[in-house]
Amino acid sequence: MTITLGEGNTPLLQAPRLSERLGVELWLKWEGANPTGSFKDRGMSVAVTRAVEGGATTVVCASTGNTAASAAAYAARAGLEAVIVVAAGGTASSKLVQVRAVGGRIVEVDGSFSDAYAHAEELASQNGHVLVNSTNPDRIEGQKTAAFEILEQLGGLPDVLTLPYGGGGNTKAYALGFMEAAGALPRLHPVESAQRATTLASAIRITDPIHRAEVDAALAQSGGSVVTVDDAEIVRAWRALGREEGLFCEPASAAGLAGLERGSAKQGERVVCVITGHGLKDPDAVG
Ligand SMILES: *Cc1c(COP(=O)(O)O)cnc(C)c1O
Repeated sequence: MTITLGEGNTPLLQAPRLSERLGVELWLKWEGANPTGSFKDRGMSVAVTRAVEGGATTVVCASTGNTAASAAAYAARAGLEAVIVVAAGGTASSKLVQVRAVGGRIVEVDGSFSDAYAHAEELASQNGHVLVNSTNPDRIEGQKTAAFEILEQLGGLPDVLTLPYGGGGNTKAYALGFMEAAGALPRLHPVESAQRATTLASAIRITDPIHRAEVDAALAQSGGSVVTVDDAEIVRAWRALGREEGLFCEPASAAGLAGLERGSAKQGERVVCVITGHGLKDPDAVG
């Protein structure tokens, strides 16, 4: 049985005002339209379905918030327990509300995301427990579907894909998805905050990207590069998405546009910017 809440099939929206201002053909992949408000639902459906098939009783994850909200919801849907490990003070409160609302258990650890991840790995070594972080390959398999959708929605590959760069699982998933379905990659530009450890964009507040090696390999293959922006640029891009295109996303989700504003696409190129999560998830981050 597939554990689903109706994830995926999200809109690919044209961005006429931003396109004109930036001199590109810009499309926004609106992942805030997923059931728990972020792209994490794509992979969580697969990971929790496979956990049930394997006889698991409990899913475990470390999270900056969105993996938590998603894991807890899909676990509830499947009748499993969810144990969510977060760095104390590192998670937007709305995302913790989402976990509690569906009965997930929250464990706070003092330290960084990496400390939370180490603790989650330890918990997941218990019998019947499955780790549903992006190191679980089923997560990546589910997230690949966003690349398939973009190919269908555009009728082919874009020239450039930009997206926020936290742990890098999503960049890896897009690269795998495009290779599998099109045999080629758009130029990939994952965008990170210069203030990785403290950025106001809490969804990408990750000091050591766990998928760095795979991301670097995909960049080399696609001719792309990591773009590093500061928080003020992320906030400016976040505001532009709202005011110029009517899209209210969480701050981390605007990182791809901030990278584009830095000139990661040439005039006239067809660009997809992945808008990873909904604005209601982190409403206090930006005034
Ligand atoms: C998880 C997440 C990211 C970062 O994705 P990675 O796969 O860790 O690089 C970016 N934005 C949002 C909204 C997220 O939930």
